[in-house]
Amino acid sequence: MSNYDAVVIGAGIIGTSTAYQLAMSGYKTLCVDKLPAAGYGSTSGSCAIIRPYYSTVEGSALAYESHFYWKNWDQYLGLEDEKGNVIYHDCGCLVMKTEENGHLKPTIKIMDEIGCPYEELTTDQVQERLPLINMKSYTPAKPPEHPDFGTSNGSTVTGAVFFPHGGYVSDPQLSAHNVQCAAEAAGVEFRFNTAVTDIQITSNQITAVILNAEQIISTSVLVNVAGPHSSIINEMAGVTADMKISTRALRHEVAHVPAPKAYDFEHDGCVVSDNDIGAYLRPEIGNHILVGSEDPDCDNKEWVDPDDFDRNFSSHWNTLAMRAAQRVTDMEIPGQAKGVVELYDVTEDWIPIYDKSFVKGFYMACGTSGNQYKNAPIAGEMMAKLISECENGRDHDSNPVHFRLKHIGFDLNLGFFSRNREINPDSSFSVLG
Ligand SMILES: Cc1cc2nc3c(=O)[nH]c(=O)nc-3n(C[C@H](O)[C@H](O)[C@H](O)COP(=O)(O)OP(=O)(O)OC[C@H]3O[C@@H](n4cnc5c(N)ncnc54)[C@H](O)[C@@H]3O)c2cc1C
Repeated sequence: MSNYDAVVIGAGIIGTSTAYQLAMSGYKTLCVDKLPAAGYGSTSGSCAIIRPYYSTVEGSALAYESHFYWKNWDQYLGLEDEKGNVIYHDCGCLVMKTEENGHLKPTIKIMDEIGCPYEELTTDQVQERLPLINMKSYTPAKPPEHPDFGTSNGSTVTGAVFFPHGGYVSDPQLSAHNVQCAAEAAGVEFRFNTAVTDIQITSNQITAVILNAEQIISTSVLVNVAGPHSSIINEMAGVTADMKISTRALRHEVAHVPAPKAYDFEHDGCVVSDNDIGAYLRPEIGNHILVGSEDPDCDNKEWVDPDDFDRNFSSHWNTLAMRAAQRVTDMEIPGQAKGVVELYDVTEDWIPIYDKSFVKGFYMACGTSGNQYKNAPIAGEMMAKLISECENGRDHDSNPVHFRLKHIGFDLNLGFFSRNREINPDSSFSVLG
């Protein structure tokens, strides 16, 4: 039997960040993952887009703050990973104005409230900035079998908002390895190829975890950061009874297609969020365009068992590529599908759970809903603060912990992410959060 102050389940970008910050707060911490290395779970398939626009003030404030962590990544880590520290390409993000997003008026109001800079662009200015983009409108997004799929509705997208503080991280899996290195330097132990198979609770207090059905690890703090497996771990711990918000795994495909040869999208492009076509785009290495879905209503959602789902591309890959081709002039669709098939861990309102549970010592950072990669370094700090305060006797349910977003000067009430919250009606109910 080994003893730790805290055990973190999962070594994705949020698990490694949580373990790192627990160690920095003085906890003797073990981080376990059933896969062979850090970031091999859903983090490896992340599009790793960093952008400040969410549909709530709290979500936007947290996301805007995250820009400063990625901008100062080396400083956050405090070391150079021998595999190299990831690069944050802060190329900015352009969001199309549509009727569905209220021509971004609610977003602009939130940006003004949190002091996040932005620039409103006319249709012509968008085209000057991104000459490969045409501004024909296709809304509402349609399935490929629809007779009007690929045909413009005859109008033009009215403009866009450009957010200079945003972009993407080149290699999400490496970013988790970076944090693993920082965590190890702070004293965290990692065990890979090691599954948590049982959880022991005595008198409503976490006492131990069982690894690979054979080894008992004694601990009084256990953190569920198991990504798309979070609901399985919550069931294992028996903590779901008082949860109003649940999590489940949603399969998602991402397409990588070549940019038109005449345009260097990799170096001159930026993130484009476009609910007129129901997709988002970002530069990808090799002058490719990465195309992800914004979950338009016409698309079916594929809820799956995280241990048994199809990792092959489906016809949805073609749909994504064809939607991108509506927006990108002269884009060719290759015969062979390239990209990613991975899982989101989704809550009812697409807002994550960063919280305790009714079992003492059991915490969760899950339900990241395809949109929390960017917030991982802060999620680690928030979880460490929440855990320290609860372990010192605070009742976070009745007296929520607050976290100061130091770069933007915002006081974040962590009750916003409660497992017991009502479904947030302000959410986009999509990956946009
Ligand atoms: C296709 C895709 C695109 C995305 N794009 C973006 C984006 O552009 N921007 C953004 O901000 N976010 C994005 N996200 C979301 C973001 O990537 C995730 O929120 C984030 O990576 C989750 O990290 P995690 O550490 O919580 O989970 P994971 O990386 O999934 O890690 C969980 C780990 O837990 C381990 N585990 C599970 N069960 C057990 C067990 N019983 N014992 C031991 N280990 C266990 C798994 O092996 C896994 O490694 C995207 C996600 C996907 C899938």
